[in-house]
This record gives sequence, C-alpha cells and structure tokens, in this order.
Amino acid sequence: MKKYIASLFVSVFALSASIAFAEPPNLEIAKQQVMRYHDSGQYEKDITNVINSAMRYLKIALAHSNDNKKPAMILDIDETALSNYPDMIKMHFGGTFKQMQEAAAQGIDPAIKPTLELYKFAKAHNVAVFFITGRKEMERNATAANLEKVGYTGWDGLILRSKEYEQAPAATYKSAMRKQITDQGYDIIINVGDQKSDLAGPYTGKNFKLPDPFYYIP
Ligand SMILES: [Mg+2]
Repeated sequence: MKKYIASLFVSVFALSASIAFAEPPNLEIAKQQVMRYHDSGQYEKDITNVINSAMRYLKIALAHSNDNKKPAMILDIDETALSNYPDMIKMHFGGTFKQMQEAAAQGIDPAIKPTLELYKFAKAHNVAVFFITGRKEMERNATAANLEKVGYTGWDGLILRSKEYEQAPAATYKSAMRKQITDQGYDIIINVGDQKSDLAGPYTGKNFKLPDPFYYIP
C-alpha cells in the first residue's frame, strides 16, 4: 500500500511538473485569436446571452420580491458597463498600468450595449443600481462623466476604490462594499462582472459572469 501511495505521489508530481513546463500558447497568436473573437461578433453575442439570462432572472425575482426590501443590482464597470477595447487595441493588449489609467481618464469608453439595456430595464423597474469598480477614487469625475455620456444616468451609487482598500484583493474590497449596501437595507438580487473576483465572496445575489479574454484581475 505504502509503495502504491509513493508511486502515486511520484506520478502526480511528474504530471504537475510536465504541465508546469509545457510551452504556453504563443502570445502573438493568442492576441490574434482574441481580436478575431471580438471582431467576429462572438464576444458581443456571448455578452448578450449572459445579459439576457440576467434580465430573465431579474424579471422573475422582481415578481416574487419582498416589498420590505429595496431591490438592487451591482455592476462592475470595465468590460462590464464600459469597454476598454479601443484602448487595448491601441496598446496591442500591453501598456503600463499608468497608460491604462490615462486612457480611462479621457472618459471616452463606449458602453457595453447589452449591459446598458439591462441597466435601463433595472432603473425602469425601481431596482437600485450600484457600480462597484476597481478604478480609484481619484478617477471619479472622469468615470462619472463617461458613464453619463454613454447613457448610464441616475445610478444609485458609484463606488470606487478608496485609499483604505488600495492594497486589498478585488474580491475583498468588492465584498466589503456589497456588505455596506446590504447594511443600508438593499436586497442585492444580481451582480454582474467580467472577472471572477467581481463575483467572489458574500452579498452577491445571483452572479452573472461576462466573458473577458483580455486581462485578469485577482
Ligand atoms: Mg471589469
């Protein structure tokens, strides 16, 4: 038995070593695949499918909702409400964090249209909408102006990363913000984001994950 366990351990170790050292996908080819995914329309189709499911869920939840609680929806911003794709193309999916912040500061990111439709539906049905973004507090004015310009008007909260949460993982920061909203008497029905870290942790309601092959936020 001991021998069996030892050999199992060796084979698991060998397997993980072979995975660790396998040649990863070629970076330039991966970038081309990402561009084809976007330009073919498949990216928008995939977003639309997720948003349609979110909309169906929201309709059913509202029909069964408890009148004592204020229904709410949480939206992430980048690659959820607004698209950074034009900037990513300019930087060929590279660039420094500072360059990305400068691009966001221009306040000209286009809306992700299916999300904007969900937003309008929620607002029309008295669902409070809170944006919770990893963008920093110093980016508030440009972000607010950008959201309004593309049609996200009349939101109930725009929560940006304060100094206190600057070093915190996204999931920790976002969970804490959702708890604050819940403590104010809101019932978070749905939560929409493009990163797993948008959806991790408590106080989410039902999660909806949009595709994002462009970057990863832990
Ligand atoms: Mg995002």
